[in-house]
Amino acid sequence: MKKFRAGTVALVGRPNVGKSTLLNVALGEKIAIVSPHPQTTRQRLLGIYNDATCQIVFVDTPGMHTPRHRLGVRMQNEAVEALRECDVVLFVADARREPDADLLKDVPKGAVCALNKVDLVEPKSKLLPKLEAWGAAHEFSAIVPISAKTKSGIKQLLRELRDRLPEGEPLYDSAMLTDKPVRYLVAELVREQILARTRQEVPHGIAVTVDRYEEDAKKGPKIALTVHVAKESHKKIVVGRGGAALKAAGTAARREVERLLGTRAHLSIWVRVTPDWVDDPKALGELGFE
Ligand code: GDP
Ligand code: MG
Repeated sequence: MKKFRAGTVALVGRPNVGKSTLLNVALGEKIAIVSPHPQTTRQRLLGIYNDATCQIVFVDTPGMHTPRHRLGVRMQNEAVEALRECDVVLFVADARREPDADLLKDVPKGAVCALNKVDLVEPKSKLLPKLEAWGAAHEFSAIVPISAKTKSGIKQLLRELRDRLPEGEPLYDSAMLTDKPVRYLVAELVREQILARTRQEVPHGIAVTVDRYEEDAKKGPKIALTVHVAKESHKKIVVGRGGAALKAAGTAARREVERLLGTRAHLSIWVRVTPDWVDDPKALGELGFE
């Protein structure tokens, strides 16, 4: 019989290539929020995949990018640290893109490459030349075409990752899906729904905190959250005319939270202007960016 394997896999790649979507699909459960805005993932998040043969601990990192403020620097540090400490590096790229030499110089040799979004590659005859181009551009130990959206190629990718992990016992309890507490996931689900309803300038300036989390065995938890925005004008956008945008975000977030918890839930969401928190070490600490 094959020996059990367990280890860590760092997910790296440009913002927006689909790292968080891939993580959710691999786990079969949504723990990482996804949005079309770059830099949606802010903190290191573990996603733990278990089957009979292996445990793969994915480390979802904020994407590789040039930091513009203190929050950006912390995000970048987390990506670099994850690269240093993991057993396998999984570099994710958009299959429609040409290889990017500037980015690849930071990717270790032997990394596994997932070329994602192959569902968007048209015509399909373009895929093979792309695979060859990425293969020629860097010493990857494997290149796997995938679509996190349609779930194609995921099984093969998991096999490739498993085969590169050390033999050994599981690192985490197999019942654990992530290292983050439920309240963190709830706050993230709210942030995701707000991002889905706002344009470019707002996302950098928002953070969501849980102020109160009251369990109620019958009706499901009552959760009070605050959305912190950088400016009064952002508050207007997040709240929307007559509160419509916030209401819609709250309803959608509640559905996601209920799916995550498997119970009903009640959310109440306030929006508060917390100026310049992205550059303020104290505010960052309070919001969980240690
Ligand atoms: P991250 O910044 O690398 O974590 O990227 P996300 O997982 O947040 O995804 C960025 C955007 O790409 C989202 O709008 C996703 O829905 C979309 N996306 C991710 N994977 C795929 C895919 O395989 N196909 C398509 N068409 N879209 C995808
Ligand atoms: Mg992400």
